[in-house]
Amino acid sequence: MRKSFKYKLYRSKKNRYLDRLIIFSGVIYNHCIALHKRYFKLTGKYLNPNRLKTHLTKLKKIKKYEFYRFVPSQAIQDIVERIDRGYKLFFKYQKDKSVGLRYSPPSFKKTRKYKSFTLKQAGYKLLDGNRIKIGDKMFKFSKSRDIIGAIKTVTIKRDALGDFYITFSCDNVEPQTIKPMTGKSAGFDFGLKTFLTCSDGIVEINSPLVFTSGLKEIRRANKAVSRKKIWSNSRRKAVVNLARIHKLITYKRRDFHFKLANKLVCDYDYLFFEDLNISAMKKLWGRKVSDLGFSDFLNIVGHKCSEYGKKMSTVDRFFPSTKTCNMCKNVNKSMGFKDLSNREWICPSCGVLLHRDRNAARNILEEGIRRL
Ligand SMILES: [Zn+2]
Repeated sequence: MRKSFKYKLYRSKKNRYLDRLIIFSGVIYNHCIALHKRYFKLTGKYLNPNRLKTHLTKLKKIKKYEFYRFVPSQAIQDIVERIDRGYKLFFKYQKDKSVGLRYSPPSFKKTRKYKSFTLKQAGYKLLDGNRIKIGDKMFKFSKSRDIIGAIKTVTIKRDALGDFYITFSCDNVEPQTIKPMTGKSAGFDFGLKTFLTCSDGIVEINSPLVFTSGLKEIRRANKAVSRKKIWSNSRRKAVVNLARIHKLITYKRRDFHFKLANKLVCDYDYLFFEDLNISAMKKLWGRKVSDLGFSDFLNIVGHKCSEYGKKMSTVDRFFPSTKTCNMCKNVNKSMGFKDLSNREWICPSCGVLLHRDRNAARNILEEGIRRL
């Protein structure tokens, strides 16, 4: 099992060194993109990543590009591979546009906005305690928990507040604690007001208020930024403040997601969700969908399941979970988008009163079991 461990680096003057590494990585990234584009224009072919790597190694010998040596070679390789992955996704999307998410080819980035670099086996050394050596400099991070498994990659990331984080992505992490089986399974339906409705009718999680109150705060901070004069010191401070609010809300959301996922994975053995079509949901419900972070939540549940030895699966998005009556299995075709706002509806064929979300959750559960 793969798992990543993230820690905050201590604030120190030495962090400027990392800052510089990230900026240089951004320069190299843009250089690679330019080479890709030019190569394609000249030959009509795709630039092989291995050729690009050897080319970059050669460049280091030229005086103009001498500063490329400053960036660990593994980090450069990672940049090339990352761009390669981006292009591959784009080509795949071009071949088959029904994949769902739209992919555009990798493009130029402002170096100021470039955020991270990644190392593999070399370029760093983990010392005792909470110390790590990157290049020839030693850094300390707040080690909130132990790193388990074999370290595959180390990523240094700078956030909008100027803080640095270090992430160890590890392989062969043994599932820590297999939670006892409860013999219970459940289907879940996502919603706006109620974040999650469970098929057994017991669990009904309201969306935390922090998201709505957070939106107001963000709006206020946003206005503050736009009122300030461009390039002024007060504007810079307002931008940092806005980033701080964003970060706080992200943390609160993650906390909510993790606690809920933990609870569900402890309570149920098999968990069924609907396969989310985020872009369609956005059209229907607006930006609130992204604020709630349904897909982040599903990812966390998936991780928790593999960690605790439980199973999660999703039900085809074209399965009419909302419109099907759970009692008589009749699909209510006359139900439009308008009716979706009603929390309850009466089945026209058997006349039973149905709770919209619970009915959908039950359908998801049954469909999930049928597919197993
Ligand atoms: Zn019915």
